[in-house]
Amino acid sequence: MSREKMNAALLYGVKDLRVESIDKPEVGPGEALVKVKAATTCGTDVKIFQRGYVGGVIQYPTVFGHEWAGDVVEVGEGVSWLKRGMRVRAGNSSPCLRCKMCEKGNYNLCEDMMWLWGAYAEYIKVPARMVRLNMQEIPAHLSYEEAAITEPLACVLHGVEEAQVKLGDTVAIIGAGPVGLLHLLTAEKMGVEKVIVSDLVDERLQIAQQLGAEEIVNAKQEEPVEKVRQLTGGYGADVVIEAIGLPATWEQALRMVRKGGTVLEFGGCPPETEIKVRTELLHYGEVTVLGTFHTTPAHFKKALSLIASGTIKVKPLTTRKMKLDEIKDAFGILTTSKSDLKIAVLP
Ligand SMILES: [Zn+2]
Ligand SMILES: [Zn+2]
Repeated sequence: MSREKMNAALLYGVKDLRVESIDKPEVGPGEALVKVKAATTCGTDVKIFQRGYVGGVIQYPTVFGHEWAGDVVEVGEGVSWLKRGMRVRAGNSSPCLRCKMCEKGNYNLCEDMMWLWGAYAEYIKVPARMVRLNMQEIPAHLSYEEAAITEPLACVLHGVEEAQVKLGDTVAIIGAGPVGLLHLLTAEKMGVEKVIVSDLVDERLQIAQQLGAEEIVNAKQEEPVEKVRQLTGGYGADVVIEAIGLPATWEQALRMVRKGGTVLEFGGCPPETEIKVRTELLHYGEVTVLGTFHTTPAHFKKALSLIASGTIKVKPLTTRKMKLDEIKDAFGILTTSKSDLKIAVLP
């Protein structure tokens, strides 16, 4: 018996991405099959495309892509809440709820996390644990492209909560890529006094300004640490968020914060890299330095609600739409273009 086929983008190695016909997944008890209507590209995907998987081993070939939304086409036995035709999003993770980290409430650090890849395809199978813990119906008025951005926003919400951004704060954000801009949109909604965004690319800084940044700094033209100090009466920002993922900018963030302030090192750096922290900064300066990783099912739900209500307007982050067949070109654009943020890949 020959199985049904579907098109999917398979990564065979660094910069080797091919659209091929593969077996369409079959659905077992508790699972669901979804027809992908939009999958958005993400900085993580670009990193994997350019230099291989960053946080572990990758088994090639692999279908990748993890931000998506679509229509339910098949529902496995034992799932009562899902119906065929329902518009949904899911993943890209669900914790086990049993390990030590889950027991402590650190669901994002679960030691048996289930990850879901394979959004650049016609269909995606959602495993049973994810159907239970991290799959939501999306409201009728919301586009698939917007719903797909739930995942990065969920990560950002976890970050800003941990960093305890407060009413009236001045927040400095290093990096005006999609994640830096999501931090900007979120901070603005939290009632901050001022957001200062720095980047090397004018086009991106202009988008940051359109999205509400009170101050923008091109780090090629102005020394960003000095500029942040100058814009804060010499003190430094209350909260500094690094949204690039390089040791140099992690260290730069430490020089931008005020005494008693918080530095959120959000961008994941290349493996085995290190930074230097002056002890005086922590002791006399009482600066809190923290990193956050990924997010939790509760934040996924919150992120989708904030997108659906229009509280956080994610539409401007998708700067282009392309077909699944053109995915190789899409990643080519993302590795070279300065003004593109996210590309929505459509079937
Ligand atoms: Zn992502
Ligand atoms: Zn766990």
